[in-house]
Amino acid sequence: MAVERKNFRRFTFAEYVEYLQTFVSKVKFTQVHVHGTWKPTIADYRKATDKMKIIQAMWRFHTVTNNWGDIAQHATIDPDGYIWEGRSLLEAPASSVGYNDSSPDRIHPFMFEMIGNFDVGAEKLEGAQLATSVKLTNAIITLWKLPEAQIKFHREMNPAKTCPGSAVNKGVFIQLVRDWRNAEMSPADANKIISTWLSPAWFAASTKAERDEIHRLANELRKASGQL
Ligand SMILES: [Zn+2]
Repeated sequence: MAVERKNFRRFTFAEYVEYLQTFVSKVKFTQVHVHGTWKPTIADYRKATDKMKIIQAMWRFHTVTNNWGDIAQHATIDPDGYIWEGRSLLEAPASSVGYNDSSPDRIHPFMFEMIGNFDVGAEKLEGAQLATSVKLTNAIITLWKLPEAQIKFHREMNPAKTCPGSAVNKGVFIQLVRDWRNAEMSPADANKIISTWLSPAWFAASTKAERDEIHRLANELRKASGQL
C-alpha cells in the first residue's frame, strides 16, 4: 500500500553541496537535466503557507497520476534559492523518455526542477533562484567532472516542450555557469593558502573546535576554487 505522504528536506546551497559530496563515490552522474515546473508557479509557491505542501503535491502527482514511483526530480529549486530534496540520488530520474538511463547501475543523469513558469511573458527566473540553479549546475559538472555539453535543457531532449521555459536562454545560462566558475579562486591559489597557512595552524591547534574551524575554512577554499 502506497504511503500517503513523504517528507522532503530543504537545504541551503552550501548544505546541499556538502550532501552531494557524500554521493560522489556512490553514484555516477552523466548529465545535468534542467527543468522548470511550469506548474506549480512562483505565485503558487508564494501563496502557500506550508511550502512543503508544494513539493508534496508534485510528489503525489508524479506517483499517483504519472505512476513514476517517486517524485521525478532529484532536487527542486524554490523561488528563494533553497534546494528541496527529491527522489534518491541513487535512482535514475523521470526526466525525459529515452534519456533517463534507468538501469539500476547507479549511472544516470542528475535532474533538477526550478519552480516557476518561465515561458515568455510569464514569470522570471532571477535572483536567488537563478543563482542557485547556476551554482548547482556548476557543482554537478565539477564534482562529476562533466563537460559543459552534458548540461541539457528538457526541450533539447523533447522538442515538443519549452521546458525549462521559452524565456530561459540556454546560451545565457551556460555563460552564467562559466562566469561563476571563472569568478572563483584558482585551485593553485586555494591549495597554497591551505598548505602554507591552514595546515600548520591545524597541527598547532590545541582544541577540536579550532581544528574543526580550520577544516571548515579549508573546505570553503576548496569549494571556492571548484575542487569540492
Ligand atoms: Zn521539464
